[in-house]
Amino acid sequence: MLKPYFKSMLYIILSLALTAPAGAQDELNVYSARKEALIKPLLDQFAEQQNVTVNLVTSKADALIQRLVSEGENTPADVLITVDAGRLHRAKVADLLQPVTDAAILESVPQQYRDPQGYWLGLSVRARAFVFHNEKVKAEQLSSYEDLTDANWRERICIRSSNNIYNQSLVASLIAHHGVETTQQWADAFVKNFARKPQGGDRDQIKAVAAGQCDLAVVNTYYLGKMLTGSEEEQSAASMVSVFWPNQGDRGVHVNISGIGITAHAKHVELATKLIEFLLTEQAQQWYGNVNMEYPLHDNIDTNDILKQWGPFKADALNLDTLGELNAQAVQLMDRAHWR
Ligand code: FE
Repeated sequence: MLKPYFKSMLYIILSLALTAPAGAQDELNVYSARKEALIKPLLDQFAEQQNVTVNLVTSKADALIQRLVSEGENTPADVLITVDAGRLHRAKVADLLQPVTDAAILESVPQQYRDPQGYWLGLSVRARAFVFHNEKVKAEQLSSYEDLTDANWRERICIRSSNNIYNQSLVASLIAHHGVETTQQWADAFVKNFARKPQGGDRDQIKAVAAGQCDLAVVNTYYLGKMLTGSEEEQSAASMVSVFWPNQGDRGVHVNISGIGITAHAKHVELATKLIEFLLTEQAQQWYGNVNMEYPLHDNIDTNDILKQWGPFKADALNLDTLGELNAQAVQLMDRAHWR
């Protein structure tokens, strides 16, 4: 029989244990390859809504993946956010992620924008399309990625280097659709049409088109969106070019995602799952797409005027996991084509 004193102590201890879950689900640690300004406001909103602390670490995706490897089981990270499926695939094959099992969450993401086993999910869609000079090119002259190998485009195209994951994923998508041999021929001919040695990022390619150094660039469209809302100089360059959606007559434009995965050693799986749920709500999708000039996962969600102006497009339905699987082959192929 317990003495009353011990009884009340036990009661206090028990009730403390119930009301304060010893820091179990009251914080969430996010490793993100997304620029802070493009994700933090949403994380803050989630933190407030859930009354939890969200700690954000921002770095390059490869550095974060390396960090997850070296931290192993001791990692504080609960989720990994990247701006392409290729890096999430890398994290998955390195056993750094665990699958999301919630059926409702999985079903709310279109199939091509998530890992087949649920190891990662898309949060927004980014399209790699053509940007052409308004005076030097007519939209009627454009059709597909395949057509950019035509001799008619000799020394007229700007694109960044082959070490960029966006180009690696684009080439991986061509391998998926045409096989290695045909894609090799494509790359060999495509490189001949470069106006200059690949240099700079996607914005630099758009600026080069505006400056007359090339007539067409292959870029992620959100960069043009950012320029249209950027400095006066960027706005004036952006006003000289237009967007063209390639391959609308067949498989659709090559797309990628920004996405998220729960780390293999996450300590706050429940909260991580809630964050994913939150990022997939219509309101978060709209904000996230708009501020980044990307597209929400579903067409029925309203976007901003710039995206509306570019019109709707058909996206390649290839499962983005394939891009990760074919990444090494794509890199080798671009190398053989001397795509610098
Ligand atoms: Fe980017």
